[in-house]
Amino acid sequence: MTNPTIQHYINGQISPGSSGLSQDVFNPATGKVSGQVALANRSDVDQAVAAAEAAFPGWADTPPIRRARVMFKFLELLNTHKDDLARAITAEHGKVFTDAQGEVSRGIDIVEFACGIPQLLKGDYTEQVSTGIDNWTTRQPLGVVAGVTPFNFPAMVPMWMFPVAIAAGNTFILKPSPLDPSASLMIADLLKQAGLPDGVFNVVQGDKESVEALIEHPDVQALSFVGSTPIANLLYEKGAKHGKRIQALGGAKNHMVVMPDADLDKAVDALIGAAYGSAGERCMAISVAVLVGDVADKVVPQLAERAKSLKIKNGEQLDAEMGPIVTAAAHQRITGYIEKGVAEGAELVVDGRDFDTNTTGEGCADGFWMGGTLFDRVTPDMTIYKEEIFGPVLVCVRVADIATAIKLINDHEFGNGVSCFTESGNVAREFGRRIQVGMVGINVPIPVPMAWHGFGGWKRSLFGDTHAYGEEGVKFYTRQKSIMQRWSDSIDAGAEFVMPTAK
Ligand code: NAD
Repeated sequence: MTNPTIQHYINGQISPGSSGLSQDVFNPATGKVSGQVALANRSDVDQAVAAAEAAFPGWADTPPIRRARVMFKFLELLNTHKDDLARAITAEHGKVFTDAQGEVSRGIDIVEFACGIPQLLKGDYTEQVSTGIDNWTTRQPLGVVAGVTPFNFPAMVPMWMFPVAIAAGNTFILKPSPLDPSASLMIADLLKQAGLPDGVFNVVQGDKESVEALIEHPDVQALSFVGSTPIANLLYEKGAKHGKRIQALGGAKNHMVVMPDADLDKAVDALIGAAYGSAGERCMAISVAVLVGDVADKVVPQLAERAKSLKIKNGEQLDAEMGPIVTAAAHQRITGYIEKGVAEGAELVVDGRDFDTNTTGEGCADGFWMGGTLFDRVTPDMTIYKEEIFGPVLVCVRVADIATAIKLINDHEFGNGVSCFTESGNVAREFGRRIQVGMVGINVPIPVPMAWHGFGGWKRSLFGDTHAYGEEGVKFYTRQKSIMQRWSDSIDAGAEFVMPTAK
């Protein structure tokens, strides 16, 4: 049996594209090639933009409540097909099935939010700003907008973008990660079944070339990006040069502070789940434990025990806690970081490189496997502290007090998520106020905001002015228009040569 080719989706049709280029898609659990993904060139992107541009006037004119009804139908279909999507994610990303179900659920939250678009688009109105004159503001869609998404959430991150963009009246082009592209086409199919007109949602598969074509295209009005910081930064600058509205969410190094008064059992549970869940391949994964006072001596032995006993196996198995690493190249990169940590003098407490693949499941011997790694006595000058590893590696930094913990975190270049475990209301309050990070958890390890609150980091974790989804998302995908109106009965006679003021 030949492997399938995962193609583009343009104007309501699967399209092979014209580049003739493709790359392998792997199942990370087996290490085997499971398909090929087409790689779009500029002419494929031009075709998708033309389809989206043609669909825009009709879709923008469709009353918001009718656009919302399509979203409601899509929501219903998503709920029916949630497990199919989750299975496809596990097969290409490697994350465990139960985690993939969670990813789809968090995406569904945003679709539910987007169903409320008529209320969200309601403008402001002031009667009688001057005698006989009213003034109101309305928000209108931008036109063709694009979304470029990372490998680690192939369903949820696109759903941070297109439900809000489309419900607001835009047409959309998704450029998913070539590592796990199947979810994008499943979503396209469900949108079509929900009654979305052709051309409103399109998918171009590919990598750098297709993203460059999108950002340079004169008919693309805005681009949302989620991925690594160097690319986020690059696209933010390029987007500005090409006159585009950009929101570019980047990488992370999320800290979790554990105070001496915290419930330490709960803190250990939180650290294990947040550091090793999804093999640490989450932008909100906790990768640094900041252990205050005498906490380290109590907690590190427990963390070591738990890191060694993680159930690491093929994600299809329902009791799996952690799956494989996404690619052989990522495996190699993470291994390199572990070597560097040792070379720079950190204490390697648990070495994930020693992992024995025998327990991973049948046919999995050649998968991209690795165990959980734990480092202690890591200092801020070490590479494993400074850089995003994006793998199952937790580093522990010992500090004397909360003030040092806050300074450490505020000095880091990333500011995506952070957490503090404490039983003190005052510590919690001060931490929340003083920390220079976009998303804060108090006794919550992964504080991913709900659909109506919006998601975004600070510092080099986000380039742009608005966070993703929520009301910030609506703002990003629309622009404000102010209308001032007077009818002839109230028009005074004569030309006015002075700046008009309220009369
Ligand atoms: P990546 O930056 O390699 O790729 C992201 C997207 O950009 C993909 O669609 C890819 O095809 C495209 N791309 C890659 N190179 C490009 C180039 N030179 N020019 C234009 N486009 C290019 O990221 P990834 O490895 O897929 O995902 C992991 C990264 O994403 C991590 O850094 C993680 O922290 C970050 N991430 C951040 C968030 C957030 O909300 N801040 C969420 C998820 C993931």
